[in-house]
Order: sequence, then C-alpha cells, then structure tokens
Amino acid sequence: MKYVDSFRDPAIAAPLCDRLKTRGAALAARGGRARIMEVCGSHTMAVGRHGIRQLLPENVTLISGPGCPVCVTAPGYIDAAIALARRGVTIATFGDMLHVPGSEGTLGECRSGGASVEVCYSPRSARDLALARPDREVVFLAIGFETTIAPVVSLVDLALREHIGNLSLLTAFKLVPPALRAVLDDPEIQVDAFLCPAHVSAIIGPRTYEPFARDFRKPCVIAGFEPLDILFGLCAILDQMVEGRASVENLYERVVHEDGNPIARALMDRYLRPVAARWRGLGQLPDSGLMLRDEFVRYDAEKRFDVPVGPGRESPGCLCGEVIKGKRSPLECPLFAQRCTPTDPVGPCMVSSEGTCSAYYKYERRMRA
Ligand code: SF4
Repeated sequence: MKYVDSFRDPAIAAPLCDRLKTRGAALAARGGRARIMEVCGSHTMAVGRHGIRQLLPENVTLISGPGCPVCVTAPGYIDAAIALARRGVTIATFGDMLHVPGSEGTLGECRSGGASVEVCYSPRSARDLALARPDREVVFLAIGFETTIAPVVSLVDLALREHIGNLSLLTAFKLVPPALRAVLDDPEIQVDAFLCPAHVSAIIGPRTYEPFARDFRKPCVIAGFEPLDILFGLCAILDQMVEGRASVENLYERVVHEDGNPIARALMDRYLRPVAARWRGLGQLPDSGLMLRDEFVRYDAEKRFDVPVGPGRESPGCLCGEVIKGKRSPLECPLFAQRCTPTDPVGPCMVSSEGTCSAYYKYERRMRA
C-alpha cells in the first residue's frame, strides 16, 4: 500500500498544483497558453479518473491524442476479420475488438450469428486454440502499438518452433512516432507539447522523441500513470514552455530506460518490416505500421486467405476520427451519451477501455454534472 500511496500523497500533490497555477500564470502574462496532448489512452483514463483536468489553469488544456490502439484501427480491418469469420475461420481476439463497429456490423454480432470468435486474454491463448483445434484455421487479430507488438509477434516465433500450421495473424500494428508527426504536420491541430506515452516509451526509448523537441520545438515529457506522475509531467512541460525550452524529459525512469527495450525491438525487427498503415482519423501514413516479412508470409492472414483490408466506412455521425486527432472533444459529438454509450457504442472511442469518449463518459460527464 505504501508504494501506491507514495504516488497519491496530497502533501506532494498540493505544491504541484500550485506550481501548475504559477506556471500557467507566467504563460498567461505574455498571452501564452499550453495545449498539451496526452498521447496515450491510459493517460486519458488516468486524467479523467483523478480529476486532473479540473486542476489545470484556464490557459492550460489537455488534448487526447491517437494513443488507443483499438480506436485507431480502421473499420476496413474489422470488415476483413468479419469476412474471415464468415468463411469458417476461428477469430481469436482481445475483448474490446468484439464491439468495434466495422462498415456493417461488429464481430460480436457476427459471433451471435454463429461464427467462431473467441476472446483471448493473451496472445498465447490463440496458440492454445490452434493446438486444441488442429482441424480449424485460427487467426489472431494482431493490433497494437510498440508496447504489444513484441508479445503478439512472439506467436509466430512459437508457431515456428512448435510447427503449428493452422495459426496466423491479421496484422494492423501501428507505430506512435509517425502519428505524432502527422499531428504536428496538420495545420488545423494546435499542439504545444506532448505528454508522451509511458509504455510505448519503455520499448522505443526517450531518444525517439528528440526530433519533435529539436525540429518542432515541442517539449516532450514521459510520465507514468499515477496522479503524481502526471502532475510532475505537466509541471515539467510548463517549466519548459515558460523558460522557452523544448527537450525530451523522462520522468518515468522506474520503467523507461535510456535505450528502451532492445530485446523487444530485435524481436519485432526479426519478424516485421515497416509499411504504410491506415489510421482511423489520420488516414494512410507512410512507415507507420509493421507487417510480417516475406519469409513469414504463411503467418500473414491477409495474404494466406486473400482478404485485402480496405478503408471501410465510418459509422454515420461518429466523430471518432476528429477525436483521435485531438481536433474535437467527445463533448462536441452530438451522439455522445445520447445514441452512443458504452453499452451501445457507435464508434470505437466509446468501446475501448482506453478510448477518449469512454473516458469522458465515465469521468468527465459526471464531474461536469
Ligand atoms: S461519442 Fe460515440 S459517436 Fe461520438 S465520437 Fe465518440 S464514439 Fe464516435
């Protein structure tokens, strides 16, 4: 308990809140403001859960970014998974994906119609499924950022070592740095600094953000998920802005090391190669995804079953694409908490446990009320 308390100690939080106010005032005195993008969906959830938005000075705003892997997965990917399920393939997936709308329905609805769609709690469960049913093809829905790519791709490693022939991946891996660059390249998105994703940084290492600080003059601060982590991170960003600096700071040294995780990156590099990837909201971004290398093509479900992944169609009226880019808040969506709720979601941002709309529904709606 002491460990947890030490990251939630009000005696430490209070001076940090004061520091946020004085730094905000220093910016305001010269007409400045800070629009800070919290990139990661887990940060968005933590910000809501701990009421951090309510602690910020008026001229400091937090904008949720494209850091929810379920949310950024394009509807065409869900369509391809549904097409595979309808062909008699067993789909193995994390639970969130069951409720993400494709162009014309969800995998959950497909399962209700009799298709074989199994929820997994780890990628290894897909291997167990494949071993238990050698008569069926099993496809694992391989989505995620740098954090999850290595454990997912280790399925291929396992399949090779254990000679499993009926297991493959439908890949939609995404890389965070190209998405941040796309955000900065979009003149309609106003971001002054990044609260960088914690777990992704544990894989890629802090140096990856240096171009954003050096070339775009955006402070980049890596922070953990506890309330004090986030307050320290926001203070560090405001310190930089007030002092006219832009650098990369790692405040999550207990998890994020200077070199990131070279073992995970080596595993990724062995099996995967960079590819242009389609992001919900951000569109097609060069070198922003990873796909299996040619020598492992038999584990690539898209090729193995010839199910090309197209763009698909967004749910009518859903603003997820804008929310993911940080252009709109969920509260600006007319469907929010009306037609779109966690039990009956219209878009992925309301489905995922890291989705911005889901976070706003759970925490910000209540606080505003
Ligand atoms: S509230 Fe629902 S419909 Fe609106 S942007 Fe969020 S997920 Fe999409």
